[in-house]
Amino acid sequence: MPEKVIIIGSGPAGWASAIYTARAALKPVLFEGAITEENRLAGTLPLGQLALTTEIENYPGYPAGDLTAFLESALPEDKRRFMAPHNREGVSGPELMELMRQQAQNFGTRTITEDIVDVDFSARPFRLTASDGNVYESHTVIVATGAKANYLGLPSEEQYKNRGVSACAVCDGALPRFRNKPLAVFGGGDSAVEEADYLTKFASKVYLVHRRNELRASKIMAERAMNHPKIEILWSRTLLEVLGNDKDGVTGVRLASTAGEPELVKDVTGVFMAIGHTPNTAFLKGRLELTEKKYIKWTTPARTYTSVDGVFAAGDVADDYYRQAITAAGSGCMAALDAERWLAAKGL
Ligand code: FAD
Ligand code: NAP
Repeated sequence: MPEKVIIIGSGPAGWASAIYTARAALKPVLFEGAITEENRLAGTLPLGQLALTTEIENYPGYPAGDLTAFLESALPEDKRRFMAPHNREGVSGPELMELMRQQAQNFGTRTITEDIVDVDFSARPFRLTASDGNVYESHTVIVATGAKANYLGLPSEEQYKNRGVSACAVCDGALPRFRNKPLAVFGGGDSAVEEADYLTKFASKVYLVHRRNELRASKIMAERAMNHPKIEILWSRTLLEVLGNDKDGVTGVRLASTAGEPELVKDVTGVFMAIGHTPNTAFLKGRLELTEKKYIKWTTPARTYTSVDGVFAAGDVADDYYRQAITAAGSGCMAALDAERWLAAKGL
């Protein structure tokens, strides 16, 4: 028997879709992604982008306060045990994501820890192939696969990945090679500022290197970086080369100027890239219409419809503009309601 709805992706959009479709008795199956080295390096392990960050200060419902007793009562002990304790009051990204997952499970969502690697939308029911080789059929599909961190694509950057080059301060920042040493973060958005701020816990100094002379980050975040005693912003600079050697890994960066200044070399033991994200749409292999920037195209205003009738998209995989946890969860709810109405209209 085909499923009524399969959800692909395990960020806020996926879990919100699951909570709504489960409560509508559609018995959703959610593919949360596989636990592989490839997904670890790409930052696409289950639970999505928020699982890679620290405090979440702008998701409604979590004011400053000690959540310990609530978390202990809401989540099983084996989920709590391995979470990093948070250092400020409120909710952390991993905590928020485990809570969303648990809420979806409580209503009966069936979760499969595999990637979807291929889709066939040419016939009905749709057919989805998982990374374990199994094929699943479903009348509707919600794609909520989010986005992953970009790299510049320099050969030296590739050479030193896992030896000083990273795109996730929360995952790697506490490693001994980064402790009490100068580090560099590239980018000028919220992620870059957040990464730099987080790394100040470990580093002796953090260079925030941005290609322009103005940060893209929100005002509150930009001020945090500019006022931080351990962060020095290197304006109008781009990365030419990661410097290093086989024994030590990263030892420095060579920087170009976008303002006509001479090249600059800085000694650092770590390079953290925070230069934006690419939507996780490659596995669709062109079977849904994408935008120029490879996001799934929403075909009708204020709906989560895609180019294939019965396939819906939610969250960062289709949204190149808002890209927030709350908007992802919101569009996950919309996709669930769109799928539910689609099934009802077809009498399925
Ligand atoms: P994602 O969170 O991107 O999750 C999608 C997940 O689906 C993937 O990670 C993967 O596990 C899974 N997946 C992908 N492909 C497949 C596949 N083929 N098969 C099965 N599973 C798959 N937003 C805020 O509102 N507040 C913040 O404080 C905040 N901080 C952030 C900090 C950082 C460092 C970053 C990078 C982002 C931050 N954001 C924040 C943005 C927020 O994380 C995203 O907007 C949100 O996570 C998007 O949710 P999503 O559900 O679309 O997908
Ligand atoms: P972003 O806002 O797209 O910023 C990417 C940054 O990288 C920009 O400053 C950009 O420079 C720079 N950049 C892009 N390509 C580059 C290249 N080839 N070389 C050098 N620099 C390059 O991405 P983000 O910071 O990852 O944020 C993504 C979304 O998540 C945003 O909506 C953000 O608000 C959200 N987020 C929120 C929080 C929070 O609320 N606490 C935290 C993190 C992320 P230009 O500025 O010159 O374009």
